[in-house]
Amino acid sequence: MDGLANSDAGKSELGADRTGAQPVWDETGTRPAAPTCPAGLIGGAAYAGASGPPLMLIEGLKRAFRPGERAAVDGVTLDVYEGELLALLGPSGCGKTTTLRMIGGFEQPDAGSIRMRGTDITALPPEKRGIGFVFQDYALFPHLDVFENIRFGLHKQPRKQAEARVREMLELVGLSDLARRKPHELSGGQQQRVALARTLAPAPQLVLLDEPFSNLDAAMRVETRQEVRALLKAAGSAGILVTHDQEEALALADRIVVMEAGKVRQIGTPSEIYRNPVSSFVASFIGRSNIVSGTAEGLGAETPFGRVELSRAVNGAVDLAVRPEQILLEPHAEGEAEVIGREYRGHDQLYWVKKGERRLLVISGPAEQIEIGARVNLRVCDCVVPINADQAGLIRR
Ligand code: ADP
Ligand code: MG
Repeated sequence: MDGLANSDAGKSELGADRTGAQPVWDETGTRPAAPTCPAGLIGGAAYAGASGPPLMLIEGLKRAFRPGERAAVDGVTLDVYEGELLALLGPSGCGKTTTLRMIGGFEQPDAGSIRMRGTDITALPPEKRGIGFVFQDYALFPHLDVFENIRFGLHKQPRKQAEARVREMLELVGLSDLARRKPHELSGGQQQRVALARTLAPAPQLVLLDEPFSNLDAAMRVETRQEVRALLKAAGSAGILVTHDQEEALALADRIVVMEAGKVRQIGTPSEIYRNPVSSFVASFIGRSNIVSGTAEGLGAETPFGRVELSRAVNGAVDLAVRPEQILLEPHAEGEAEVIGREYRGHDQLYWVKKGERRLLVISGPAEQIEIGARVNLRVCDCVVPINADQAGLIRR
């Protein structure tokens, strides 16, 4: 049903090769990170809004739950900058929650290190890390009202000071009028704002959020995610948000860490990840892609679509990720392909077309309607991304 031609998601082991090419930074923490890896490849660039070295640097994090089995988290290396919102994105079971739990101190890694502003915190208990955690089910106290729930995280502060901070947080999340309500008297979105306010109240440097929108319905999710982003930015806390929802990661994050099978496959801004995926896994997991093979020479390649332009220069046999919206359908009585399926979606239309033995997915505008069974020619109307190419532009098959 997904119409992907010959996507070999998960086959690429290139991510493992590239985990060595990560940003490096000065041990003293005084020099901003210098990206050592060209943008678009696994390490991507540092966060564009970074004003110094990373707030947190995680290197080679590993955790296997059973001896001899494949590690749930297998050498994760990433960095998070002050004020940045980072999304950990990947399919269910790829190790996102385990990574987050190790960052929070709820799970001990078998190997690797976690440093915060240059200090190794790998062995510190959760409460000594200055990190807040928003739980998936919010974990609000049902018998306490909104005010007391938020105050809970400030129990070590003098009463007056804590109460002033609670009022400040209530204002930040827009719940001042509901301070005396109990959690069951609030909507899902409001409960989540209380949970976030409680986490943000002690001013953590970093907030961890595990699938924070999974308890909300689709419409609330869209509304709430921008609110959560705005609240973190307003509070000045960095955030690491775990999600399996690519749309959520694209819409929310400053940078996305794409994970698969315990490994980091690519790190980059939403547009880098979408426009320049490094492997068929990333190209097919984030958005949809038609994976086609071709023969490249510099910035051009011969493909089943004829000659296409490439987004970066490579040579030899290549796999290319062609996005459905990059293909134009031109009805023609003797066209090279046949329309075999169509789905009208209001704002656009999905077409499945068959060219030889290959099925391709095409997205086009809502106006023109091509009937099933019609012949069409295919034209690629944009630069296409070579995938599974290494940094030197050489292709591994
Ligand atoms: P994600 O959050 O990406 O869905 P998880 O980090 O929860 O993935 O899990 C990664 C893998 O580790 C899965 O195969 C899961 O079954 C396994 N796992 C997670 N927690 C435990 C645990 N406490 N004991 C044994 N296996 C676990
Ligand atoms: Mg999880």
